[in-house]
Amino acid sequence: MDTATLTRPAVLILLGPPGAGKGTQARMLEDRFGLVQLSTGDLLREAVAQGTEAGKAAKAVMEAGELVSDEIVINILRDRLKAPDVSRGVILDGFPRTTMQAEALDHLLAETGQKIDAAISLEVDDAAMVERISGRYTCANCGEGYHDSFKTPEVDGVCDECGGTEMKRRADDKAETVASRLEAYHAQTAPLIGYYRDRGVLQEVDAMKPIKDVAGTVQSLTADVIS
Ligand code: ADP
Ligand code: ADP
Ligand code: ZN
Repeated sequence: MDTATLTRPAVLILLGPPGAGKGTQARMLEDRFGLVQLSTGDLLREAVAQGTEAGKAAKAVMEAGELVSDEIVINILRDRLKAPDVSRGVILDGFPRTTMQAEALDHLLAETGQKIDAAISLEVDDAAMVERISGRYTCANCGEGYHDSFKTPEVDGVCDECGGTEMKRRADDKAETVASRLEAYHAQTAPLIGYYRDRGVLQEVDAMKPIKDVAGTVQSLTADVIS
């Protein structure tokens, strides 16, 4: 693990449309740099599964491929950032997704004297995004991500990471929902590219390349900004 140079908690943001590879890259960054992946999508799916108030409010919105309210998402993220395990630094995966969330994050970090090290924008075209989403599945036990064509386990049906054999697909990874997720991305999230460019932390990465090539670029620029 590349941790010797880390002197304060790092804050990385992974920006990009659904299916761009944010979760895939975040897990690889966790392994290499000892950072913690915070996925608001995962946190919301957990809240839905547990039937909390936030989960009840979020369920139908997520199924429709729209964005959950800023208030719910910001509250969930604020709570998660208080947990002790995030002290080494975080990779925000899927947050912020609106300008209001980006401003809320700036305030949260200012309270603890932290700053954003990089906002890494994974750039893919819309057709690739649809292809990636429709072939996506994950290990039900450890959450490792796979793809029908682009990332298959070494032994069919068996997770490379944990040996688990139960694989699952997300309820919202279906053709009917993809159009609204893409629309939400272009209308509400894409403006954040300019937001972070203006603040001098934007890093644009060609995410049309194979997973390992994208990982090489993402990890080398991470090593540069957190040292
Ligand atoms: P993907 O990996 O495909 O980008 P996520 O797992 O990040 O999807 O998000 C799944 C769904 O959860 C989104 O379509 C949205 O409904 C909700 N969601 C996740 N993060 C946010 C957020 N920061 N703001 C609003 N809604 C969110
Ligand atoms: P996001 O978190 O941005 O929604 P994921 O990391 O879940 O995206 O990736 C979506 C799907 O595409 C997964 O099945 C993953 O294995 C696959 N994938 C990720 N990055 C690439 C890539 N560079 N090339 C091809 N497939 C990829
Ligand atoms: Zn697994």
